[in-house]
Amino acid sequence: MAEMEPSAKEAAQRVRDALGRIREELPAIAGLADAFEDLLSERTLLREELPADWDFTMPDIDPDQFRQGVPIAGPESFPVSTEHLRGAVERLAPIMERSFPKVKDSLAAVKAAVLDGALELDKAAKLLLAGDFDKLAVMADEAKLDAGLASFMLGQALKPYVERCARSLMPLPESLQWLKGYCPICGSWPSLSFLLGQGGQRRLKCSFCGHEYRFMRTACPFCENVDHESLEYFYSEDRNHERVEVCHKCKKYVVALDLRDRSDDVLLEVAPLGLIYLDMLAQEKGFSPGALTEWNVLGEAISRPSEDPVQ
Ligand SMILES: [Zn+2]
Ligand SMILES: [Zn+2]
Repeated sequence: MAEMEPSAKEAAQRVRDALGRIREELPAIAGLADAFEDLLSERTLLREELPADWDFTMPDIDPDQFRQGVPIAGPESFPVSTEHLRGAVERLAPIMERSFPKVKDSLAAVKAAVLDGALELDKAAKLLLAGDFDKLAVMADEAKLDAGLASFMLGQALKPYVERCARSLMPLPESLQWLKGYCPICGSWPSLSFLLGQGGQRRLKCSFCGHEYRFMRTACPFCENVDHESLEYFYSEDRNHERVEVCHKCKKYVVALDLRDRSDDVLLEVAPLGLIYLDMLAQEKGFSPGALTEWNVLGEAISRPSEDPVQ
């Protein structure tokens, strides 16, 4: 392996610092921040340690298809090899086993199946990139693995490479217009909505590749509902720059940040973890997350705060 770039270490440290700020502001979430710190930091190292020439060739973009909602990169576009994934699992799995002791044995079984070839990595990765969780669950079942944890581990192993691919596509040509709520690069749903700048431009952040893209200010990203009557948001009085946007039509939600007056350092890839109290609020009211995130997919495997963290 090439010697570690200082910038990779710095990027990992930024993740740790951001989690430190969340812990300070919301002590009830400290346990959750602790559980994810090593995993998020190691994943950042994996992404930033990739050599500068590890790149993704820009696929040809058909502007008409793009306008109609066809994402740029299909599952075949990502140059992720079995070796990459195996290497990532080797580094991330021990951290996951340590961080999520309740499911340690099931995670160890997934790791073993990846390393000894019982789980066909190439096929599993393609299914994950295509968002075909049902077929992936069948594969995991056949290998006698916990399907949720298998897709969690593989997703974590893939993410650094996918994020790096998405970054190498930037900036997208100005002339391209994207009107959908899912990601223009990989087609995944957003895990964060945020408002930026004077005019309050709304942007969404992809839950998988991390790409940030513009979207209509008042519309549900998941069903494109624009009826104001059925779109609502909730927030806590003392943290009114944080909210959860819910749609009564599709019953989905996305957590959101108002960054218009924020001058402090907000690390968007970590920020949704600090909004888990809003996930809990929306889920109590019967809404479900529009995108899977590490902390809403692990469910009982992680210790969630038992009380409302902002009280
Ligand atoms: Zn994406
Ligand atoms: Zn909706």
